[in-house]
Amino acid sequence: MINTTVNTKIVGLFGNPLGHSLSPIMQNTAFSLCGIEYIYIPFQVEPGYLEKAIKAMMIFNFAGANITIPYKTEVIKYIDEIDEMAKAIGAVNTLVVKNKKIIGYNTDGMGFTQSLKNKGFNPKGKIFLLIGAGGAARGLAFTLAFEGAAHIFIANRTFEKADILAQDVNRVLGSCATALSLEEAVLRDAEKKSQVLINTTSIGMYPDTEYMPISDEVLRPELLVCDIVYNPVKTKLLQTAESIGCPILEGYGMLVNQGAEAFRLWTGKEPPIDAMTRVVLDKLTI
Ligand code: NAP
Repeated sequence: MINTTVNTKIVGLFGNPLGHSLSPIMQNTAFSLCGIEYIYIPFQVEPGYLEKAIKAMMIFNFAGANITIPYKTEVIKYIDEIDEMAKAIGAVNTLVVKNKKIIGYNTDGMGFTQSLKNKGFNPKGKIFLLIGAGGAARGLAFTLAFEGAAHIFIANRTFEKADILAQDVNRVLGSCATALSLEEAVLRDAEKKSQVLINTTSIGMYPDTEYMPISDEVLRPELLVCDIVYNPVKTKLLQTAESIGCPILEGYGMLVNQGAEAFRLWTGKEPPIDAMTRVVLDKLTI
């Protein structure tokens, strides 16, 4: 039980619907282990009320917030400053209250690249094949390009969205992204040139766990196969890749590392990452 006082700093999660977010248990575990008087609370924000929710942060004792679907882009209108990377991505998932101002960041892409680095894989100079071009893909594409990826192929069901993302990345960070369709021949060709494949679509997520975003014909053992879907921990794509002999990277590492980066921004302290990972894995494997 968290003992709250008038000095307790609040961190909110604003979104709709909020469902079963793992962030409250992950962040409250971290606050408690670090012995700091913070509490993380989910607030389901009804349509039309986001601006009021953001203003309320300045009235009450908020240290910051996480922003989730569907407000990651809309929130930009209501904050005082935005970090350069979040501005380029066009989405904010973390707010920090500092000197009476609300500053927006995006820690999603950083969470993924940190999880890659923890596996001993440096994105610099590597070629990536991203499946999907939604909100999470935007964070990943910009961060990978910023980290020096040699090239990023972006394949999406709706080609136009992949094309917009590739053009946005190329405009901000130089010509390093190409948009593709999800056609198998196109994917095979891009995969042969790539060292890493990342599923950023929601395909394979619980309860539709029997689906894969691509055919297993596209995989070869040299490819590092990553999935940002974290429920289940080992998606059908990762199970198939592993059976072929590919190294794999599960999505829970991105979840923990984006939360760890947000924790640093709110508290200025180093987060207890091992404990945060344990609590997330405990919840995911029930
Ligand atoms: P989003 O903005 O809604 O984008 C969804 C993407 O999936 C789009 O590219 C969409 O293609 C594609 N897609 C959906 N259903 C499809 C289907 N049946 N066939 C082909 N493509 C399909 O969602 P998001 O915020 O990027 O999140 C995507 C996934 O990442 C979710 O499962 C989310 O839980 C996960 N995620 C994980 C983390 C983490 O920390 N590990 C962080 C953020 C998100 P179209 O453009 O054609 O619609």
